[in-house]
Amino acid sequence: MSRSVLVTGGNRGIGLAIARAFAEAGDKVAVTSRSGEAPEGLFAVKCDITDAAQVDAAFKEVEDAHGPVEVLVANAGVTGDQLLLRMTEEEFTNVVDTNLTGTFRVVKRATRGMLRARKGRILMISSVVAMMGSAGQVNYAASKAGLIGFGRSLARELGSRGITVNVVAPGWVETAMTLAVSEERRQELFANIPLGRIGDPEEIAKVVRFLSSDDASYITGAVIPVDGGLGMGH
Ligand code: NDP
Repeated sequence: MSRSVLVTGGNRGIGLAIARAFAEAGDKVAVTSRSGEAPEGLFAVKCDITDAAQVDAAFKEVEDAHGPVEVLVANAGVTGDQLLLRMTEEEFTNVVDTNLTGTFRVVKRATRGMLRARKGRILMISSVVAMMGSAGQVNYAASKAGLIGFGRSLARELGSRGITVNVVAPGWVETAMTLAVSEERRQELFANIPLGRIGDPEEIAKVVRFLSSDDASYITGAVIPVDGGLGMGH
């Protein structure tokens, strides 16, 4: 059955791999991008998730094209790395406003239709650093850890309505977000990953798709690591 799927930040990186995985399975997929440009073969809506009015407008466009969103993948996110002592309040709140409050904005808007339909799948993309911490990333790690409390609380709120809420925690995945890492730092990081390599965006996409499928009907409130063993199951 073809479902209406929305992937935030689905124009590139992990989000694009997720969007393509759903499209290949026959779902009606919409992605958001801040430019409004669509990746080849996908339907795109312009949306900056730091702006609730843009979120609402994007959902209206998706609803008109594909019907109410049945699967939401809250994937859009940013980093703004800096050591705490040098981090400005703005650098902290900008990252939280996108990764955590931005997810709040899209999830809140998506639940409207899901509650009416009494079914839905919500997936949030967190990170292994939510559990492990990461020097230079107090803003990012706090925002990603926040998604876990958010997701688990929402799983409790929506479980009786047939809506599941799960969090995927990727490890280190090759995208624009990680390209800047030096070769030396890569080798250090590989040493801590039992599988000894960086992840592929498709490896995240497959897990997200599974969690949105009927096969995952009894999974909610879970945090699923996809990190080559880096977080040892946390
Ligand atoms: P990219 O930098 O490649 O992509 C980030 C995406 O988020 C882009 O589509 C971007 O859109 C979108 N985005 C950023 N800010 C906003 C905003 N304010 N409003 C709407 N969209 C926005 O990163 P990845 O693909 O690597 O990351 C995807 C998710 O996975 C993120 O949440 C990230 O934190 C998480 N993650 C990534 C890991 C990795 O190793 N790569 C590891 C763990 C988690 P635009 O094109 O408009 O900028």
